[in-house]
Amino acid sequence: MKILISFFFFTFLVSCGDQNQSNETFSSDQGLSQEHKKEFKKDLIEVTEDIYVGVGYGLANSIMIETENSLVIVDTLGSVERAEELYQDFREISEKPIVAIVYTHNHLDHLGGATVFYNENETEIYAQENIIYNLDNIATTIRPIIFQRSARQFGIPLPEEEIVHQATILFDDELTIEIDNLTFVLAHVPGETDDHLYVWIPKKKAVMVGDNFYRSFANLYAIRGTKFRNPMEWVDSLDKIRLLNAEHLVPSHSRPISGKENVEKALTDYRDGIQFVHDQTIRYANKGLTPDEIVQKVKLPKHLAESPYLQPFYGSISSYVRSTFSGYIGWFSGNISDLHPLTVEERAKKLEVMAQRQTKISDEAQNALDNGEYQWALELADMLIALDANNTQAKNIKAAAADQLAKFQLASNDYYFYKTVAGELRNEIDVNPSTPNSVTSEQLQATPMKAIMKSLPVNLNADKSVEITKKYEFRFIDSEEVYTIHIRKGVAQLSKIPDSSAEVKVITDQQTLKEVFAGLKNVAAISLLLANNTIEVEGGKLEFLKFLGLFTD
Ligand SMILES: [Zn+2]
Repeated sequence: MKILISFFFFTFLVSCGDQNQSNETFSSDQGLSQEHKKEFKKDLIEVTEDIYVGVGYGLANSIMIETENSLVIVDTLGSVERAEELYQDFREISEKPIVAIVYTHNHLDHLGGATVFYNENETEIYAQENIIYNLDNIATTIRPIIFQRSARQFGIPLPEEEIVHQATILFDDELTIEIDNLTFVLAHVPGETDDHLYVWIPKKKAVMVGDNFYRSFANLYAIRGTKFRNPMEWVDSLDKIRLLNAEHLVPSHSRPISGKENVEKALTDYRDGIQFVHDQTIRYANKGLTPDEIVQKVKLPKHLAESPYLQPFYGSISSYVRSTFSGYIGWFSGNISDLHPLTVEERAKKLEVMAQRQTKISDEAQNALDNGEYQWALELADMLIALDANNTQAKNIKAAAADQLAKFQLASNDYYFYKTVAGELRNEIDVNPSTPNSVTSEQLQATPMKAIMKSLPVNLNADKSVEITKKYEFRFIDSEEVYTIHIRKGVAQLSKIPDSSAEVKVITDQQTLKEVFAGLKNVAAISLLLANNTIEVEGGKLEFLKFLGLFTD
C-alpha cells in the first residue's frame, strides 16, 4: 500500500516546539524562562475520562482518546524514538486497536512518529487538505533555506530523518466521524498554519486545538522563515473554538486546561493578544509609520502583558508586528531611503571616510548631496531627522536628493515615489488620506456595511479604550444585519451574532451609520441625528458619542 511519501523530512524542519529540548547548547543562559520549562515536564495526563495527553515526550504532545473498542491518536510526536516511548505508556492504559490518527497541521513535530501508531490494516489518517501542498513545498522548493534557518531557530544541529505517513482521509471545511458511538468533529481552523484543524468531542466537551493555542504568545511569525500567518484568521478560528464552550482545552504544546471558565479566559486572552498586535500595527501603518517605528509603539496593555497565556516565550512581539506589516503592506517600509539602499560595503566605506574626516552628520549630508552621492545623502538626512523631526535643512537635503534620484529611475513607480516624497518634504504636496471629504457618500453607498464595520477595530485608540469593557449592538431599519462590537480593554471584537447583554443598542439606517463612521458627519451633525432620532440609542445617547470618541486620536 502506497502510504509513504517518497521523500524524507528532517524532524525539526518546520516544527514549532518549545525550547526545553533545544536549548541545551545555551543552558547557562538566563534568557529562557525556567518557570516556563515546567509546562513541558514529561507527564502522561488524564485530561478527563478516556482522554490522555503525553506532554514532554517530544517537542509536541500526543493525545489518545479511548472509545468503547478503539483508540484515536491526535498528533504523533516528531520521531519514532520519542513516539515509541509514549506508545508503550499508552499501551499500559489500553491495548485496543488504533483506528484513527489525526494530524492537527503539517509541522513535523506532530507527524514524525506516525509509523509507531499506524497499522496498515486498521488505521486511517485524517488531515485538512491543505496539508498536501504545505508538506510538498517545504520538502522541496524552500527546503535548503528552511533547513538552515530551522537549525538556527532551535539552536541545535538537526537530528535524523524521519518518514512521514501521508494522510488517507482529507477534508476541506468540516468532517464528522463516529467511532463506537463517540462523535469527533474535525473542523478547518486556519491559524498557525493554513491547514490547521481542531478535534471536538461534544460528549466529552473536549477540544484539541493543535498549535492554535499553547501557553505562549501565538507565534505569528517563525524566524526560521514562514509564509504570512494571517492574525485575524487565527483570531476568527479562536472565536470559533470559544463558541464550543469546551470544558477541556488540549493543546499540542504545553499542558491541558480544564474548567469552562479557565478555558474561556485562556482563549479570550489569546485572541485579544493577537488582535491587539494586529489592530494596532495596522492603525499605525495607516498613519504612515514604518515597521521600525511601529515596533516602538505597539505594547500590550498591562492585563494582556501579564496574562500567563501571552508571555513571549516562543517568539518576539516585535517580530509579529513586522510580520503583520509585511503581510498587509509588503516589504517596503514606505521610507524612500529604504527603496534602493546602499550596500553594506558602500555604507561601511562612507562611514570610514566620514570618521577619518571627523565631519558632522549635517556637513556630511550636504557634502553627499553636492557630490552627487544622493542615496548617502538620503540616509544621512534620515539620521538628522531622527534627531530632530523639525530639521528643515535635513528635509531640504532629503528632498533635493530624492529629486535627483528620480532622474535615474527607469521604473515609473519608483520615479513618482521619489518625486512625490520630495514635494511632501517641501510641504508642496499633501497625500494625507484623512483630508476632509476624501470619501463621498456615493462611495459609501457602494461599500458594504460589513466592510465598514470590519474597518473599525483597526482604528480603535488603545490608550483611550484600555479601561473600557462594554458591548454595543448595531441594528438597521433597512437591513436584517446585526453587528456587535465588544470593546474589551484595548481590543474591539466585531461579531455578527446578536448579543442580548449589549449595554448600548444603536438603531439607524445603514447609510447614516456609514457616514458617521467614515467621518463625514461632525459632532454637531451627529448630535442633530441623535436629537431627531435618525439614530436611536438605547442605553444613553452620550454613550454613542463616547463610543465614536474611542476611534479618534
Ligand atoms: Zn507544533
